[in-house]
Amino acid sequence: MNEYVEAWTENDLNNGFTYQWNPDDGKSPMLKITKSSLGTYGFCRGSYVMNYDPFGNGKIKGPPTEAMLRGTEVHNAQEAFWDLVDTEEMMEHIDDPNKLVKSFMALYPETNDETTSSLYKGMASWSAERFIDCVKDGTLEFFKPVGNEVRLNAKFDVNGVQVHLQGIIDRLFIHEGSYVPLELKTGVWKDSKATHMRKEMAFYKMLLDNATDEEKIAEGLDPNMEFGYWGWFFPASNYIFLEPVKARTEQSVLNSMQKLVDSYMTKEFPFDDFYKKCRKCGLFSVCEKGEGGITYDW
Ligand code: SF4
Repeated sequence: MNEYVEAWTENDLNNGFTYQWNPDDGKSPMLKITKSSLGTYGFCRGSYVMNYDPFGNGKIKGPPTEAMLRGTEVHNAQEAFWDLVDTEEMMEHIDDPNKLVKSFMALYPETNDETTSSLYKGMASWSAERFIDCVKDGTLEFFKPVGNEVRLNAKFDVNGVQVHLQGIIDRLFIHEGSYVPLELKTGVWKDSKATHMRKEMAFYKMLLDNATDEEKIAEGLDPNMEFGYWGWFFPASNYIFLEPVKARTEQSVLNSMQKLVDSYMTKEFPFDDFYKKCRKCGLFSVCEKGEGGITYDW
């Protein structure tokens, strides 16, 4: 039987939010929701329990996969990349696209991993193409993102329950007078990922719309500027996509948040096991519905 946590860490109490939310206790820090926690919950409620430990029974972790480790490395490299880009220096190679690509490529760290190296090449080529377009269009001032790993917090009302949203937006560009979050993914693009990507972007929109002006200013953002577009970049598939914000997606994120809140209220987080999904799950080797639950009869 799942029981609510009744004592929280000093950190959770100071922050005022936690994954160990106790809806029955008025002194409980509020529920923390991130893009990842909501995504994990939507993937499988049992995996949410193993990853976020809502009842304080301890997390259950699987071994980190190669893709996870590569994802972290590439995201760190992309953050450093944008800190290093000097548009004046790049202008020296504006008439030589090959040199331009090489100059952007030189801003990524050396790697012996072929997959990582080809991701860096794809990202450098995209930057070179975009740089040339910006010079042609006279929009070079918007070439660099105005936000690089933008950390935001916001309080949000889920039908009468106050929750705490937290997230890091990979990159924020300006396009046609509005913000455009651009999410980097190191996996392969499939059309079936579009709905999930829209939900991730809508989460960021809700985060930006509900963060305080002080919070936005502290991150170097204009509190009056909103998202006009959102987009995602899958360099492994040379796929980049940008579209105007779809307001309907926000309702779908809100519905997911409501379900998460309801699970806490009812203490019900069943496994959503399905063999095709479980095979791809990072917890398969430790989950009782996966390999972790298989007992061999010798
Ligand atoms: S292996 Fe299946 S049931 Fe277990 S956490 Fe992963 S998706 Fe859920």
